Amino acid sequence: MRFVILGAGTAIPATAHSPAGIYVHIGREHVLLDAGAGTLQRLQAAGLPWHQLDRVFLTHYHLDHCLDLASILFALRLPDVGRRKPLMVYGPPGLTRLYRQLNTAFHGWIAPRGFRLILKEVSQTTVRLPGYAVQTRRMRHDDTGAVGYRLTGQGRSLAYSGDTDVCEEVVELGRHADAFILECSVPDERKAAGHLTPSECGRLAAAARCRHLILTHFYPVFQGDDIRGRVRRAYQGRLTLARDFTRVIL
Ligand SMILES: [Zn+2]
Ligand SMILES: [Zn+2]
Repeated sequence: MRFVILGAGTAIPATAHSPAGIYVHIGREHVLLDAGAGTLQRLQAAGLPWHQLDRVFLTHYHLDHCLDLASILFALRLPDVGRRKPLMVYGPPGLTRLYRQLNTAFHGWIAPRGFRLILKEVSQTTVRLPGYAVQTRRMRHDDTGAVGYRLTGQGRSLAYSGDTDVCEEVVELGRHADAFILECSVPDERKAAGHLTPSECGRLAAAARCRHLILTHFYPVFQGDDIRGRVRRAYQGRLTLARDFTRVIL
């Protein structure tokens, strides 16, 4: 399994921190976790096969996590791309309604052509797929039913929180994970409901006993803060602060 953080930031523009998106190659599939604005362009910039995506897993419907679903669907329907295989999109309840409303707003221009689009709404479940499995857990973010995803295949596991506050489910999600990707939105001194701070990320990673903690979703409010120092108070394992295009092989 290998993955690339395509965006380590949020909705607010920041250097090296674009909106959320993670490309994962697992089994024989090309998978996307979240699709914030610009994700399609960054897939191309990273030399990744955006036209071959098999599945997209959305954590929730804030625009910094899902806006480029429309761009991807629009690109895949163009004749030059020659898309034939189906695309499966997963997300919390509301996915079908979101798709229909977007397609109406865009006058039908994101409806699939030449391939099948399959939408699956998920909450707390396990999806078995060719060569790997995906577990979903409800996160504590807002009232949109945000979920986190855990991908397990070839004896390796990758957990991704999406956006969340501290909760038991996020610890479960990251339990003994080979890679635990946690949102780290704001400094300890600027705690915001529905998001995590560096100290909280450290405590969650220690409780989950993950092998490698990767922090992402940095708001530009971080200005020279000692993020590592705060995480290290609780967690001593491997630690990476993601930037756009951080690559990890598990
Ligand atoms: Zn976000
Ligand atoms: Zn959010």
